[in-house]
Amino acid sequence: MKVAFLGLGAIGAPMARHLAPEYTLSVWNRTAARATEFAKESKATAASSPADAVRGASIAITCLPTSREVESLLDGDGGMLDAFDRGATLVDCTSGDPATSRRIAARLAEKGVGFVDAPVSGGVAGAMKGTLTIMCGGDEATMARARPVLEAFGEKIVLCGPIGAGHAVKAVNQAMLGVHIWALSEGLVALQKAGVSPATALDVINSSSGRSNTSMNLFPERVLNRAFPRTFRLALMDKDVRIAADFAREYGVASPLLQLASELLREARRELGEDADHVETVQVLEKWAGVTLGGKQ
Ligand code: NDP
Repeated sequence: MKVAFLGLGAIGAPMARHLAPEYTLSVWNRTAARATEFAKESKATAASSPADAVRGASIAITCLPTSREVESLLDGDGGMLDAFDRGATLVDCTSGDPATSRRIAARLAEKGVGFVDAPVSGGVAGAMKGTLTIMCGGDEATMARARPVLEAFGEKIVLCGPIGAGHAVKAVNQAMLGVHIWALSEGLVALQKAGVSPATALDVINSSSGRSNTSMNLFPERVLNRAFPRTFRLALMDKDVRIAADFAREYGVASPLLQLASELLREARRELGEDADHVETVQVLEKWAGVTLGGKQ
């Protein structure tokens, strides 16, 4: 069975690597050298265009920054839309937005092609281990076709609702992550100014009710040791939290915290740039307060 994978970025590449041993894998990437390199290292073929990648594939997977880029691959010279076989399925692992996905799905449906939105959680480490959580939107029959392929890199795979539901759940998850990073940054900076070491504070918080993945893993492993590995760009988290804020507004839900989190992360992105990692957000709070967590005051 042929599977196509489009978008060999920080998380896309380790996801695609799990498919190579099981399927006839065709990969495409905007920067062609990445696809050629991937094909050399794994049992895969580098496609010359999105159309070339998806032609003859039963399942095509996209993992791009936003839904806008996924939509842009449908049309034009080498676009996917006219190359799909009837009965094929596009599985979009991008952390995208529900409205654009519904539009993409409608256009694919006219060609007899199914669609599932299937954003992932678990980071680059989870992608490498093949233990991602995958939250999906679509109908049961299309999901049944996608699931065995998703099992190559996913451990917990949940159909959350109709098309767009996976993106919506992912956006809310990301909003929680953004809020945790921002709130913990403010709190630890204030505690350090008050003379409490962040390591001591985290030791207490992590056996108390305020703990989170951010306090238990991200800050001890990336902030206090000043390692700041670049695994997930702040620009992408900003995009995700904006999707959550817009989504809540679209449904008329009062969401002051989501709106504020979105504004703050946009400001952090402006200050730190497009390549900064999401955890580097703490550096904005440190700069404002004139302290370095774990460092000298
Ligand atoms: P990266 O920025 O590392 O990679 C982006 C990929 O998209 C690259 O393959 C890039 O190609 C391609 N791309 C960018 N712009 C275009 C375009 N206009 N047309 C075609 N291809 C394009 O992102 P990640 O891999 O980190 O993230 C991908 C998705 O997964 C995002 O939606 C993100 O929010 C989500 N995600 C990421 C996680 C992570 O830990 N990194 C965790 C969970 C979800 P090129 O090589 O040419 O730049």
